[in-house]
Amino acid sequence: MSQNLPARARVVIVGGGVIGCSIAYHLTKLGVSDVLLIEKDQLTAGTTWHAAGLITSAGYHDDTSLWMARYSRDLYARLEEETGHSTGFRPVGHLSVATSPERLETLIRERDFQVGYGVPNEIISAKEVGELFPLAKIDDIIGASYVADEGRADPVGVATSMAKGARMGGATIVEGVAVTGFTRTGRRITGVTTDSGTVEADTVVLACGLWTRQLARKAGVDVPLQAAEHYYLLTEPMAGVHRDLPIIEDLACYGYFREEGDGMLVGLFEPVAAPWHPKGAPEEFAFGTIPPDWERMTPFLEKAMERIPSLSDAGIRTLFCGPESFTADVLPMLGPPPEVEGMFVAAGLNSVGILLGGGVGSVMASWIVDGICPVDIAGFSIERALPFENSLRFRTERTVEQLGVLFGDGSFPTFHQHSARGIRRTPLHEHWARAGAYFAVSAGWEYPEWFSPTGENAHVPWTWGRGYWTPLIAEEHRTIREAVGVMDMTLMSKFLVQGPSAAAILDRLSANDVVGAIGRVVYTQWCNDRGGIMADLTVTRLDEDRFMVVVSDVSHRRVERMLLDELRDGEFATVTDITAGMVILSVQGPNSRELLSRVSP
Ligand SMILES: Cc1cc2nc3c(=O)[nH]c(=O)nc-3n(C[C@H](O)[C@H](O)[C@H](O)COP(=O)(O)OP(=O)(O)OC[C@H]3O[C@@H](n4cnc5c(N)ncnc54)[C@H](O)[C@@H]3O)c2cc1C
Repeated sequence: MSQNLPARARVVIVGGGVIGCSIAYHLTKLGVSDVLLIEKDQLTAGTTWHAAGLITSAGYHDDTSLWMARYSRDLYARLEEETGHSTGFRPVGHLSVATSPERLETLIRERDFQVGYGVPNEIISAKEVGELFPLAKIDDIIGASYVADEGRADPVGVATSMAKGARMGGATIVEGVAVTGFTRTGRRITGVTTDSGTVEADTVVLACGLWTRQLARKAGVDVPLQAAEHYYLLTEPMAGVHRDLPIIEDLACYGYFREEGDGMLVGLFEPVAAPWHPKGAPEEFAFGTIPPDWERMTPFLEKAMERIPSLSDAGIRTLFCGPESFTADVLPMLGPPPEVEGMFVAAGLNSVGILLGGGVGSVMASWIVDGICPVDIAGFSIERALPFENSLRFRTERTVEQLGVLFGDGSFPTFHQHSARGIRRTPLHEHWARAGAYFAVSAGWEYPEWFSPTGENAHVPWTWGRGYWTPLIAEEHRTIREAVGVMDMTLMSKFLVQGPSAAAILDRLSANDVVGAIGRVVYTQWCNDRGGIMADLTVTRLDEDRFMVVVSDVSHRRVERMLLDELRDGEFATVTDITAGMVILSVQGPNSRELLSRVSP
């Protein structure tokens, strides 16, 4: 056993990037000092050391992300006072420019949401953009959002300042030790094995960035994420560039710009990206860089550089490429994975690990200590991940579009991912296709969003506006409100719960009384100990000791886990996932009784 490695800790955190350091720091703030962080190389050696350090809430229009971004910003602004170690945070201001009405609409809607939460987000004119960032070409800009109190930080400073705070709170940080696997008793993870010995733990937290998928598999846990190449160009010093220039993002050209050493950093979120080592990232990669693919990146770079015309005369210092992990829906994977007990995951940060890092650490620490997540985590919870997302083919195909999706493409209501489609189809799929369905996707299921009467669907642009589909949807809506319609809801998850204890288990889980007459369908919630809603579903009593639970596709793994966990000693029931074996047709509208009585008198 290594001299430095304790035999036991209440919480073992694997990974010393910004996320691991933040979780350690926030655990100590909650009074948990028996924390051991294990890093295989040195702190920040994975992805954190080379981040561009943008600190912004741009793109966030949900409570949880916005809270995490703003909390992180505030934390980085004050952390030096507490730890004596600078995060390098500087509120130089953050600009997002729009060159099309659709992009401007996105920015306006985002502003409307964010001001309600106290974010000083304002919409400004092209002229004002020019005043704030004189090097920018502004003749094609039709508006921009500007947040004056956001800006940039030093990613290494952020992580190491939190690491220092964690140490001050009693945490132990060990570098140069690699976690190689896990010890377990049944479903419970009881510790980690390392190249320097074994450490017992009540809770193991996987915060090992792009390596998390590989390590988690050793515990039989799926953490679907995939690393991709991620680029920025650094120039020699340029006239007019100074350290107080704001950050400027141009969503339409997938580029962002900030000062770096009196030159410019040109960051890219190219819409056609390249996965990095899909079969498995090299374990020994530390403070590493990826040889840049100039040929692939030149067209994206040229397009982005048009925003700052003087870049065409600037000397190039380097085209930097480093790996970062992306998930199927560009949201992080957080929380306890349903496959095991005693483990938490915090990975898949989709290029926003620095700007969300403080918030992620705070949420994770409360969740670990209380057993209940303090914020609405549905969109981030690892329970939403489905095993097919971890397949080599899915990851390789999906990752290609994720950088562009993250940089604004995904914000439009008409946006649907076009990669890795056709994973799950209902038995009626071909029927809907022949009827002119325009298919959208949820949890891998293809489902009809509307039907075109001609059988043809034209290209659907990314827009907030109306289109040829609007009257089609309105007509469907009217028909169901005034007459009757049939919807294919096969994508909903279905579980059979059977056995002598089935009624008792469902009765304990459900807020409503679900153990009624045979044939009765009851709509109910399943809540946590604080009354927070964990699942929203129906329970149908099929027989004395046979029930069917139907829940939304995205709650599949959570509900399955809750059912299995509810079984007490001495009870007997089986839970069978029958999702793929059963079609659901939902008949709705005032004429539904009449229709059904004709079909089944
Ligand atoms: C070019 C580029 C620019 C970026 N710009 C920004 C930006 O402007 N703003 C922003 O918010 N984000 C940005 N990011 C993203 C950000 O860097 C990441 O989201 C963040 O660093 C992820 O942190 P992490 O702690 O999850 O992972 P990492 O920093 O990779 O940390 C994981 C750690 O785990 C360790 N580890 C792995 N396996 C083991 C093991 N078995 N045992 C022990 N230790 C292990 C690794 O050595 C590593 O140090 C950028 C990324 C790139 C590539």
